[in-house]
Amino acid sequence: MKELKIEDIINLKVGGSVKIKKKLGEGGQGIVYLVDLNGKDYALKWYTKPVGKEFYNNLENNIQKGAPTSAFLWPLYLTETIDGHFGYLMELRPSNYVELSDFLIARARFGSVSAMINAALCISNGFRELHYKGYSYQDLNDGNFFVNPQTGDVLICDNDNVAPYGKHLGIAGKSRYMAPEVVKGERKPNADTDRFSLAVILFLLFYNNHPLEGKTVVSVACMTERNERIFYGVKPVFIYDPANETNRPVQGIHTNVIRRWNVFPAFIKESFLNSFSTETMMTPEKRYGESHWQKLFVRLRDVTVRCTCGGETFIDPDQADNKCINCGKSLGKPLTLKTDTNRVVLFPGMKTSLCHTRTGNDDYKEITGEVIQNKNNPLIWGLKNLSPESWVIYMPDGTNKEIPANGVVQISKEVSIVFNGGKKGIIG
Ligand SMILES: [Zn+2]
Repeated sequence: MKELKIEDIINLKVGGSVKIKKKLGEGGQGIVYLVDLNGKDYALKWYTKPVGKEFYNNLENNIQKGAPTSAFLWPLYLTETIDGHFGYLMELRPSNYVELSDFLIARARFGSVSAMINAALCISNGFRELHYKGYSYQDLNDGNFFVNPQTGDVLICDNDNVAPYGKHLGIAGKSRYMAPEVVKGERKPNADTDRFSLAVILFLLFYNNHPLEGKTVVSVACMTERNERIFYGVKPVFIYDPANETNRPVQGIHTNVIRRWNVFPAFIKESFLNSFSTETMMTPEKRYGESHWQKLFVRLRDVTVRCTCGGETFIDPDQADNKCINCGKSLGKPLTLKTDTNRVVLFPGMKTSLCHTRTGNDDYKEITGEVIQNKNNPLIWGLKNLSPESWVIYMPDGTNKEIPANGVVQISKEVSIVFNGGKKGIIG
């Protein structure tokens, strides 16, 4: 049974069965169906092409171990094999999630800069957890992600090629996303090659153009296999390589990256310049780990504020005056909360997470505080304690005060806050 029909009943290996409701899509390896299992909808990926025993065993192993985090649309159950074909069940993609590739061709747009930053955080964190668990993804590309455009929440799909370190299932990856050493055929995909692909995905997310596709690439008449090998494998050149101008973005073609390159703070630029320097591209172990990206995007989130014009802009806490990138309004030099690890701009709507308020914690998701404006006097700002624990604040004159859950610290210079667990922040 290569292809399944509506109403077909397929048994699961663990027992029970699913009923085919609808065909959802088709890919290189198989077909995805909408199926019903005990009244709940799932997606069934059905392999129409034969896959080897090793692939099957690996999939079974991944199902047993479970998903690294809830961000993965992970294989849940295997079906029984019918005439040499089989499939696996996974959760359905929620209808408000769109494919990352749709963003890249401008068919979808993020609702805000914050949503885009959140997507970058989710992708970096997802791969960090995957690598922590000893897996490599091996086939990272723009088709692997579903993104909620309003929140930036990400679901990582196509996890059937995920394999433990050192193991590979014969897949090389998708052209334009593969690491140079994979393109050249020198190495099989692993965590280091994942990290190259990750940097490409993140660059695309921020700038909507490919980091290696500039003048040189558009000037060839035909993207032959030989050309691909040169541009992505033997001699890749970053479009903003400071030491090599040959592959710069072209006006009228690479408009997104030309417009956005200077919009984001310098530290974002720096990380991409390092990631795509010839040395880093050609030296797999020099590539940034996912923690670097996660920290970087938390840092970006910490300086991204919403202006009164409704647009979001970036604050440089060391600059005497900051202007909104949308309306040009002066936003001055807002105070910040400085800790040993982070610096958050204290501007209405800004939030702190566990990574800001708990020692040794890098959770950027769980919110612990929010900057609010005084209802009677909007010029007075405060940091509201949204954590379940008390904080203690120390005034410049040495007096202290407890701020219970839901209490508010009035934001003023040189006030320090000791969070639960002892982490300290200073307003300045
Ligand atoms: Zn503005």
